Amino acid sequence: MAWLVWSPLAANLVLGLLGPWIARSLPPGMAVRLVPIAMVVVAMGTGTVLATLGFLSFAQVPEVARLGSWSASRLGAEQPWPVAAEAMAGTGAALLLAAGFHTTARMVRELFRVAGTARRLVPGPDGVVIVPGAVPDAYTLPALPGTPARVVVTTAMLHALDGEESRVLLAHEAAHVSGRHHLYVQAAHLASATNPLLRPTARAVRFAVERAADEAAARRLGNRRLVARALARAALAKAAALRADDLDEGSTGTASVSLSATGGHVAQRAAALLEPAPRPRRAIAVGLLALTTITLLGSSVAVDQLDDRLDQAELPAPVLSSSSYGGSQTIASVLSGP
Ligand SMILES: [Zn+2]
Repeated sequence: MAWLVWSPLAANLVLGLLGPWIARSLPPGMAVRLVPIAMVVVAMGTGTVLATLGFLSFAQVPEVARLGSWSASRLGAEQPWPVAAEAMAGTGAALLLAAGFHTTARMVRELFRVAGTARRLVPGPDGVVIVPGAVPDAYTLPALPGTPARVVVTTAMLHALDGEESRVLLAHEAAHVSGRHHLYVQAAHLASATNPLLRPTARAVRFAVERAADEAAARRLGNRRLVARALARAALAKAAALRADDLDEGSTGTASVSLSATGGHVAQRAAALLEPAPRPRRAIAVGLLALTTITLLGSSVAVDQLDDRLDQAELPAPVLSSSSYGGSQTIASVLSGP
């Protein structure tokens, strides 16, 4: 089962290459839940394997070996690859970990900023916050401890859509809230920050989140064509307003952790709504779960093997022999003193 050690790295490659296809092939609701979990497990598994390799090279530094009471030469003699490769793996793990901390700190700062914004917003009786604004927009601010989620719609968006289309938009945003979609988007973003190979998959998760909200709105209103039309009209109205004011998407004040109804590939989303509802793809889901399970096993085997290597290289504890103290003196008497 030694090959399992390398399975997190292989899974990383598979998810990096096939992740976008997997996210688009699974029904959106399933992709939103399964793909980010697989990404986090694979990113952590890859980090674990690289860190264990790096630790093996670190453990051969004489001062570290002395502290750990193991033989640096015995540790080095049994490894089939050069110590420089292990050192590179360890450096890679440290850099990826630093990127993960940096991204986490940025996400926490952003969430605090959003929480401050959400607390100042006063919802109407239907729970929706309507804000004045010349740019048609609708987005969801995530729920945070002490701050409920907020669905925000600008007055310009309400003017751009008719009554039925506005209901579509609100159903779409409500699906983001009930599905806790921002958690999955943040998990995928964090996994891709610690593992650049997973960035295309993180973008596919963002798309899947929008598709899942579209499908939820279509189920709620029972009309896929209406949802496609509302999306297209909302996106066109927003694009026209941005063009008229010579603004770009980031200048509308929408927080980056929010989920906007017009965010991402609206034409593809509308086209998907004109097709029948997606069918479950159990074989792909089972394959993704198998990949996740193998990665977890591989990470565990990597840690076990590191532990075994260190145990095997451990130096024997110094033994006090009676001869050291003049033959007739026993160890017990030495320990008990004169
Ligand atoms: Zn959305």
